[in-house]
Amino acid sequence: MAARLLRLGRALGPLPPRAPRASARHLQTENHDVQRPETFSAKSLMDIGTRRIFTSDHDIFRESVRKFFREEVAPNHAEWEKAGQVSREVWEKAGKQGLLGISISEKHGGLGGNILSSAVVWEEQMYVNCTGPGFGLHSDIAMPYIANYGSEEQIKRFIPEMTAGKCISAIAMTEPGAGSDLQGVRTYAKKDGSDWILNGSKVFITNGWLSDLVIVVAVTNREARSAAHGISLFLVEDGMKGFIKGSKLEKIGLKAQDTAELFFEDVRLPASALLGEENKGFYYLMAELPQERLAIAGIALASCEFMFEETRNYVKQRKAFGKTIAHLQAVQHKLAELKTQICVGRAFVDSCLQLHAEKRLDSSTASMAKYWASDLQNSVATQCLQLHGGWGYMWEYPIAKAFVDSRVQTIYGGTNEIMKELIARSIVSDS
Ligand SMILES: Cc1cc2nc3c(=O)[nH]c(=O)nc-3n(C[C@H](O)[C@H](O)[C@H](O)COP(=O)(O)OP(=O)(O)OC[C@H]3O[C@@H](n4cnc5c(N)ncnc54)[C@H](O)[C@@H]3O)c2cc1C
Repeated sequence: MAARLLRLGRALGPLPPRAPRASARHLQTENHDVQRPETFSAKSLMDIGTRRIFTSDHDIFRESVRKFFREEVAPNHAEWEKAGQVSREVWEKAGKQGLLGISISEKHGGLGGNILSSAVVWEEQMYVNCTGPGFGLHSDIAMPYIANYGSEEQIKRFIPEMTAGKCISAIAMTEPGAGSDLQGVRTYAKKDGSDWILNGSKVFITNGWLSDLVIVVAVTNREARSAAHGISLFLVEDGMKGFIKGSKLEKIGLKAQDTAELFFEDVRLPASALLGEENKGFYYLMAELPQERLAIAGIALASCEFMFEETRNYVKQRKAFGKTIAHLQAVQHKLAELKTQICVGRAFVDSCLQLHAEKRLDSSTASMAKYWASDLQNSVATQCLQLHGGWGYMWEYPIAKAFVDSRVQTIYGGTNEIMKELIARSIVSDS
């Protein structure tokens, strides 16, 4: 892990006591300096110091991230849920503590870690059950487009500010009439001298309301031989004339996330707002979407781990028929099933994370991870809520929030039906 990232972890001072590490019989792998248990042999599925994909450097970083989410996010989350957005302050605090732009290289203005360090942030956010801050979308979905396809000027101008949490980003693909079928987008950018004039609208945009910078997918060639050949990406900044943010959308979950509609009415964009090459936008999307899908899978698995531990604690204290319900065999079997399913899922998602860190994760495997892990998350949410009885249906219980927040995971980032299309294509393809 990059030195800068590690220093940021160490700079945070005294840390909470470490979870005990299982001793003696661990695998020594050639890549890692310590013998580490997997989650299935750890005391809790959220213990620090587990999983062979991580090192002791990641553990130090994880401790600092855990502290951040417990102290800076969890206590404010109920208020943010009411407001339908988080504070700008938490973005800047996250920037200061080195939680943004982690896997963007230092030479581009990021922190120079890799996807494993980013995963630590996604996971710790789920372990406090606070989905409000759209850090993952900003750091691991939007920022890579700028780092990978941006001009030197765009990189210099935006990436350091994004890493600092001073420039909040969003990516706007979906339109009221085009979601799964991205080639159906209608937002249109017309050349006018060296400028572009942008018209259209986007919907369901995460971080949309707070966004300072939006990557907008637009048609630039209506005559292209297929829609995929006529799509480009643009960097649209808050405050540009004609760029209007609609109201924050009322959702059944992700209550503290500022999901918004965006409108573009004759927005004049300079040539320097084009991201990458003209008409190459669709290819950039295809190249970057696997990381988005892996992130959704990582979030899903961490949420499963959180829900499992929450439920384990609940059944051990809830009494019925003179004993805790954890004494009932039906409950014990359910917990056994849940733990087994989650640990099987964890093994696959960790393997995908490792492959992606080595730049070997293909699109169809990322789709498998997204589809399977988000389906698992919804199944775990339903079963864990059931084990809470009526209390599980009450908003004050964390499982209720985890349940509603799970629901969208099978929908965004490409629906799970679309994931199956992509997986199936690679199965039956002759090449
Ligand atoms: C909370 C939230 C946050 C979001 N954040 C963002 C964001 O930041 N940026 C962004 O651009 N978008 C975002 N989205 C949009 C999201 O990616 C889309 O909702 C999703 O891709 C599905 O598109 P759609 O809603 O138009 O559904 P549709 O495409 O209309 O699909 C409707 C149903 O038809 C099915 N279907 C469609 N085509 C096929 C097919 N070929 N085969 C089988 N079934 C099919 C779908 O699976 C689905 O079940 C977000 C959505 C939500 C709810």
